[in-house]
Amino acid sequence: MNRIARVLVDLSLDREFDYLVPEELAEELKVGSRVMVPFGRRQAHGYIVGFAESSSYPNLKPVRKAIGKKPLVEENVLNLARWMADYYMAPVEQAVRTVLPSAVRDVAARFKEVNVVTPTALARDADAVAALRRKAAMQAKVIDALASGEVPMPQLTERFGASPAAIRALEKKGFVTIGRRVLRRRADAGHEVLPALPLPLMPQQAEALALVKQAIDTRKPPVVLLFGVTGSGKTEIYLQAIDHVLREGKGCIVLVPEISLTPQTVDRFRSRFGDTVAVLHSELSSGERHDEWHRIHEGAARIAIGPRSAVFAPVKNLGLIVVDEEHEYSYKQEEAPRYNARDVAVMRGHRDGCAVLLGSATPSLESHYNVLRGKYALARMPHRVDHRKMPVMRIVDMRQEMEKEGRLNVLSRDLMEGIQSRLDRAEQTILFLNRRGFSTSLVCPTCGTVAKCENCSVSMTYHKQTNRLLCHICGAEQPVPERCPNSECGDPAFKYSGIGTQRVEEVLRKVYPKAKIERMDSDTMTKKDAYRKTLGAFRGGQIDILLGTQMIAKGLDFPGVTLVGVVQADLSLHLPDFRAGERTFQLLTQVAGRAGRGDLVGEVIVQTFTPFHPAIQAARTLDYDGFIDQELEERKELGYPPFGHLVCVTLRGKQEELVKLTGETLVRRLQEQLDKTVRIGGPVPAPLAKARGEFRYQIMLRAALTRQITGAPKRNRARFQVA
Ligand code: ADP
Ligand code: ZN
Repeated sequence: MNRIARVLVDLSLDREFDYLVPEELAEELKVGSRVMVPFGRRQAHGYIVGFAESSSYPNLKPVRKAIGKKPLVEENVLNLARWMADYYMAPVEQAVRTVLPSAVRDVAARFKEVNVVTPTALARDADAVAALRRKAAMQAKVIDALASGEVPMPQLTERFGASPAAIRALEKKGFVTIGRRVLRRRADAGHEVLPALPLPLMPQQAEALALVKQAIDTRKPPVVLLFGVTGSGKTEIYLQAIDHVLREGKGCIVLVPEISLTPQTVDRFRSRFGDTVAVLHSELSSGERHDEWHRIHEGAARIAIGPRSAVFAPVKNLGLIVVDEEHEYSYKQEEAPRYNARDVAVMRGHRDGCAVLLGSATPSLESHYNVLRGKYALARMPHRVDHRKMPVMRIVDMRQEMEKEGRLNVLSRDLMEGIQSRLDRAEQTILFLNRRGFSTSLVCPTCGTVAKCENCSVSMTYHKQTNRLLCHICGAEQPVPERCPNSECGDPAFKYSGIGTQRVEEVLRKVYPKAKIERMDSDTMTKKDAYRKTLGAFRGGQIDILLGTQMIAKGLDFPGVTLVGVVQADLSLHLPDFRAGERTFQLLTQVAGRAGRGDLVGEVIVQTFTPFHPAIQAARTLDYDGFIDQELEERKELGYPPFGHLVCVTLRGKQEELVKLTGETLVRRLQEQLDKTVRIGGPVPAPLAKARGEFRYQIMLRAALTRQITGAPKRNRARFQVA
């Protein structure tokens, strides 16, 4: 009897199709195999996601052929993708595409092979070589170049000037053999790291590691939350836990936020584990990524490190998944499938039967709540290694400052004096501002008109270098208007308000003309190497003041920094997001952690217009528990995560009335279909009410269980053509 293969076709159709398995392919085809199938009048690529004995469709066509010898996707990863498609309401092919990097999926992707020249025993025979040297000096030179073994052909011709003819002649005479060999492309070629040994652990680390080892060995508990202040030695725990896993013959995945996947981080793993570490970085070329991925797939590398997509790495026999900085928002993918890699890691751990270790200095409310409910175990490390002091945080009330000075300055008196004293003592300062550009917006001082993007509902950002306005949503650009665009006003004093990193840089250069100042944001860090170079210069003491956005908040360790200034702490507080307070607290705590990592005590100065906001006060007093309790209370009342689940449906279109009307119809439909306990909000204009010329409305669904709210929007999607 013929078997039937369920094939996920590589076109966006969100369903599986049945095909017959031809006799001659019966052996070869497995779950995860890449295949070519007839599709309508065309051919299509796809993956086998399962087999069946019968199909409800008549006249099935056979699978045309298999592509590649081995399945690319293992069954466990494939099933994870299907779970993800269901849970995050994405088409299943899109989920499968997410778990397979395009560098691997691409039909043209392959290993790089080169000809390698290998010396034979004859090449080691002194008499034979001496005879050769007399007759063909060029060929003898090639033999010399092979003194320490095989050399790739291109290297022989380029570096040693050997002609291909000479090499062929040597092959004929039996001095060498020429063979094909796979050449590994690597981003870090030539970059050596010295091996390092495990550190003897501090008592709090030893206790935490014991719990993690127990989780690895018995999966009781299955998930450990490692809550350790910055500098408490969490990375050392990861390293020793991984060592334990490798000794059992198993593999690991380590997730880090993209931005902290620095050479410094990677080196710490390489120096402990060498070449069994594979790095899946977004900056790799597709060839490098292809080769790293296959090193993991083949088991040559047993530790995969990377940003969120590394959670799908094809690591064999998984023993542990580490999620560093588990609270980080960058683990969430902003496009479909809108997965959170931390949650996928916990799910993969559950399905693959391996332990999961979540680490953070400011755990997310969700993870904290899972500890409270007994789903995760907690390992807490409240002290820094060597019991160095946590930095002192000072809050500067900018409203008072404005009254005192009679105007609003970018830098308060306290912050300016703080920086000056660091310059005097040859210590370093980090200044943090969560916003790029010179000023946020141009506001007319007479009538209050703001320069807005014509396509989007946001104000344009002024960029000083180009003296132009830029929309950070659609990229639209325009020159700065000479006068206020409001025709009834037209004030030529139409100018900037608010501040951006460029503006802060300008002020710094004026106030501290002798200081070495460097700005780090996505505008200045466009070159691939700029980030590494600037950080290197800062570490080396060639920079006094480093000014930047989020880029500098994460995981960096500079012993010379004794002052961290936060120019405006309120920026992230006023985002239309129920996590705004939590994020501000985390950000301030993270930034503060950059101060005082060496022998010197650190100081943090935070400028704000809302000094009594709970998030800011909690960050100042290092009161994680107090803040979290209060936040949890609030979320519980409102049915927000972790007490409930949210689905946000966004509708968009060129005609505002139509979008709104469609939203209202959809809400009525959902009210009929959904359980009475589901709360439905909207349709209301989205926080970003207009983008790229399209109006946006959103509907928010809140429920205790995901199941209650994921089905109905999915069923309605096709009918309403909503995104
Ligand atoms: P975290 O990841 O919690 O911020 P790290 O793991 O980066 O902390 O550790 C902070 C510093 O302390 C690093 O320089 C690290 O090498 C050092 N360190 C960690 N554990 C120990 C230990 N047991 N003994 C000595 N130094 C340690
Ligand atoms: Zn725009």
